Amino acid sequence: MSEKNVTTNSHNTRWPGWLPLRPALKNSTPYGAPQLDQVIQLNTNENPNSLPDLVRDRMMDRIAEIATGLNRYPDRDAVALREKLAGYINRASDTQFGVSHIWVANGSNEILQTLFLAFGGAGRTAIGFTPSYSVHPMIANITGTSWIVGSRDSEFGVDASGAATGIRELKPSLVFLTTPNNPSGTATSISDIEEIARATGDVGGLLIVDEAYAEFSPEDSAVTLIRRFPHVVVSRTMSKAFAFAGVRLGYLVAHPAVIDSMLVTRLPYHLSALTQAAAEVALDNAELMQSGIEEIKAERERVAAAISLNGWKPLPSAANFILFSGFPGTSHEVWQRFLDGGVLIRDTGLEGYLRVTIGTPRENDEFLSVMHSFAS
Ligand SMILES: *Cc1c(COP(=O)(O)O)cnc(C)c1O
Repeated sequence: MSEKNVTTNSHNTRWPGWLPLRPALKNSTPYGAPQLDQVIQLNTNENPNSLPDLVRDRMMDRIAEIATGLNRYPDRDAVALREKLAGYINRASDTQFGVSHIWVANGSNEILQTLFLAFGGAGRTAIGFTPSYSVHPMIANITGTSWIVGSRDSEFGVDASGAATGIRELKPSLVFLTTPNNPSGTATSISDIEEIARATGDVGGLLIVDEAYAEFSPEDSAVTLIRRFPHVVVSRTMSKAFAFAGVRLGYLVAHPAVIDSMLVTRLPYHLSALTQAAAEVALDNAELMQSGIEEIKAERERVAAAISLNGWKPLPSAANFILFSGFPGTSHEVWQRFLDGGVLIRDTGLEGYLRVTIGTPRENDEFLSVMHSFAS
């Protein structure tokens, strides 16, 4: 095959000429933060606490119980799990949701994809406020949805009235707002979300609020807006606050009409019986599963204070990670120095900034000790 038939993307993947890949994907690269062993992993905003022994035992018992039924397909609609998620949200936000307001999938990334399949696609546009979660524009691209880049201010906040004006002008089908935002950690207030929701409703769009880190934030959840604004859709996950990233369980809180649309675009039997059983046990033990949150929040404040004291600049965070700047050298150089010191943090591609996930106190101490090894 001649060189002419080969296209090269930015990571030098060579697509052979015979491969009928969609043109929109020819420049795409796989999503991926490095997964390295033998270093302290503070790069993917995982929760450092492993499953409590008691929950692990209950989970094993439950899985043993259902194992004989694994020749059958799982409950396609995951009703028991959705019931428990509704209860969890209602307890946290004083709402009155039921099964019909909740959808579940393999991680909130799949939730986002299912939303795009229902409401995005060719001829549709979506808008997000960057820097934010890179998976939103990635799935827009995969589903052929045009992506409009909205901006954040110098402190990475969203100017709600500016955003509302832009939405009224551009009339997107989907508006994405991540709060607390990844990678900045900054949160949007409920009154600002409401202003953006009003504009989105006026142009017939859906506002998707990605609340992957809600449990670490002092702000009210956007689920409290759904009763008044049926086009507000809230995406949540058990990956972060529940310390359950390996199970892959994300969910959606929305008006029943949105949930009905998810039933159309989901794959049949998408959520395995094992996943459903494990998540049900985790929710039955929600308090125990989340018992590490207070320590993570306290550690976040301790690490932020130490970064400041070192003369670097942490952004105020409402999540389980901190974006910081003010270090000597480029992001990549400083990222490499941390890695050489045994601590893997995240270079999010934002020059002059790096992101560190809050780990255990001991892991955070390691991060701080590499930081202190820099001449300031
Ligand atoms: C981590 C993260 C997710 C992904 O969560 P999963 O449920 O593990 O797929 C979604 N949104 C944001 C903003 C995140 O940071």
